[in-house]
Amino acid sequence: MNENKKVILYSVLAYIFSIVVGFIWVYQFWGYEPFMWNDQFMINTNDGYFWAEGARDIIAGFHQKNDLSPVNNSLPILTAFLYKILPFSFETIIFYMSRFLASLVVIPVILIAKELKELETGFIAALLSSIAFSYYNRTLVGYYDTDMLNIVLPVFLLWSLIGALTTKKNYFLLLTVFDILAYRAWYPQSYALEFSFWALIGVYVLYKKYKQKEDISYEIALLTIMMLAMIQLHWGVRLVAITVFYIAFLKEKAQSYLWYIFLTAIGLFFLSGGFDPIWGQLKKYIFKEEIKTNKDELQLHFFTVMQTVREAGKISFEMFANRISGHMSIFFLSLIGYGWLLWRYRVMLLSLPLVGLGFLAWFGGLRFTIYAIVPLAFGMGFLIMEATKFFQIKLFKMIFVSAAVLLILAPNLYHVWIYRVPTVFVKEEVKVLDQLKHIASREDYVVSWWDYGYPIRYYSDVKTLIDGGKHSGEDNYLVSYLLSTNQKDAAKLARFDVEYTERKYSLKFNRPVVAQMTLDNNFTDVNDFLLSLEDIKPPKKTRDIYLYLPLRMISIFPTIMRFSNLDVMSAEIVRKPFFLFTKNFVQVPNKIIALAQGIKTQFDLQNATLEIKNKVFPVKEFILTKYNKEGKLEVKREELHPDGVLNVIYMQQNNQFLFLDNDMLNSTFIQLFVLEAYDKTLYEPIILSPLAKVYRLKE
Ligand code: MN
Repeated sequence: MNENKKVILYSVLAYIFSIVVGFIWVYQFWGYEPFMWNDQFMINTNDGYFWAEGARDIIAGFHQKNDLSPVNNSLPILTAFLYKILPFSFETIIFYMSRFLASLVVIPVILIAKELKELETGFIAALLSSIAFSYYNRTLVGYYDTDMLNIVLPVFLLWSLIGALTTKKNYFLLLTVFDILAYRAWYPQSYALEFSFWALIGVYVLYKKYKQKEDISYEIALLTIMMLAMIQLHWGVRLVAITVFYIAFLKEKAQSYLWYIFLTAIGLFFLSGGFDPIWGQLKKYIFKEEIKTNKDELQLHFFTVMQTVREAGKISFEMFANRISGHMSIFFLSLIGYGWLLWRYRVMLLSLPLVGLGFLAWFGGLRFTIYAIVPLAFGMGFLIMEATKFFQIKLFKMIFVSAAVLLILAPNLYHVWIYRVPTVFVKEEVKVLDQLKHIASREDYVVSWWDYGYPIRYYSDVKTLIDGGKHSGEDNYLVSYLLSTNQKDAAKLARFDVEYTERKYSLKFNRPVVAQMTLDNNFTDVNDFLLSLEDIKPPKKTRDIYLYLPLRMISIFPTIMRFSNLDVMSAEIVRKPFFLFTKNFVQVPNKIIALAQGIKTQFDLQNATLEIKNKVFPVKEFILTKYNKEGKLEVKREELHPDGVLNVIYMQQNNQFLFLDNDMLNSTFIQLFVLEAYDKTLYEPIILSPLAKVYRLKE
């Protein structure tokens, strides 16, 4: 079989393997109704709903001003395009797209191997990288996010750069820059990686010029055309620049001016702000600030979201190694193989930026591990193929390779088997949002925690205050505050927040909305403004406001409150709300012993007290909630100690206890969601399902 046929055969086999493994999740959940909507599985990544909103709006042909729908982003555009040309439903496309596109990574892997004349190494690397632990996690079916091409595109880039440097063929210049254009359009943060490739080739060129005194005009042309593709200008401008340069280079018109063009391209790169985004990214992921201070006439301090986001968390070395190779031993063998590979094929040094970016995960941000997977899989494949050289007999060779490949795939396949991620929402929750879509208008706001922002916008086609991309301490503050304060203030603050959020878009003021509303009402202290809310006239109503309160918010309620426990004026923690929840309890005579968030809590039924950490508190109220046969919530309240400070709620439906102080009991979230004890002058129940409740503000 000739080489090209082998390339095609290996690519097709590896691609099919990757897809088949991707269907394991589908097989495991086949027919599981709670995960399905519109006869298709729902997606399992929150951010996916953001892209889905954009794609939906592109297909519909319209969206609302300031609704934050990403109609100009590549993933929604590609999705809408696929929807138009393929005979599948929208839900089917967004569910399967990730695995079908991410599996394409096997092609550049095998093409790189072809340049090295190590096709079998490439085939092993393709099998391993397509299903390796963290690559699978971020590209499995339903993981509708940009990750689906975030490795495919740079590995293609790596291939074209390797091809360029080893063959000096002109078409590799074009492949390189088109890949840069596509990669940038797909993922604007791609920048750092492209720049690292460029810098590495730059070092190589310098070495070549001063040590080996070789002709370097092809390499300079490569660096020049890459730089032209990387300038921070509109892609159309870059496309023209690239085309003009390429034609001039082909016709050998550019050669005598090559160095001038090269230096001009570099100058343009820096002038267009080329280096800024790299620095910005590093700052975001490496330096995690606890509290951010706003620079304004009101110096406000906000809690930052980073410490509550898991992806920024530090990971153990074992987890780090597992996520790259599936197992610690594979990781170390891969490192050895990779070192050997670099020694044998110096051009593979170009893959170092991918490894470097992957190892950044070690400092925080476990999402980065996916970048190191392909180079290290190459190392593993190379080690296996080198080891076969010890075997004289072909049959033994084949047995060895098959066994080794099975061994390196096994832990990754096992991971795929046990990684049964649920969908973001279940059917009953989506039903609520779907109902809301037919009630609310597209300009209305739904107030809820940021975790639900994107799905709310996708299923209900409304606007939201905070979401997976807009959730800074400043954005979260008021929503956190209103969910944990009394109903009266909450209603007024919701109106303030919504109207000021729209004003902020139209008037383009920079200060936080809470600062603006404080100043507009002639206060200089946000606390004074919040304490005087009762006497302050709310802004003019321009639209309806809904509160979306899901059951799943109970477990994150303590996290939600952290954003408003902070005094924004002094940066001090001023509130220490008491709120515990648990399903983990046993009943013994006269006592309920519970373990809530690791805290042992004993509810003494006889004396009506709560014992927590050896302290005894009188219980003010015991509240039982349950659903009757008609599906209506029934609330039974019993006052135990009028001067009590803590309360106990038992939610029979979920077999769950809540232990909370008086302020938390009076919070809008508990009153509206848990007790349905809404103030009829302020709120109107719209949908009351056990999993999620929606209220409309009357004013
Ligand atoms: Mn919209």
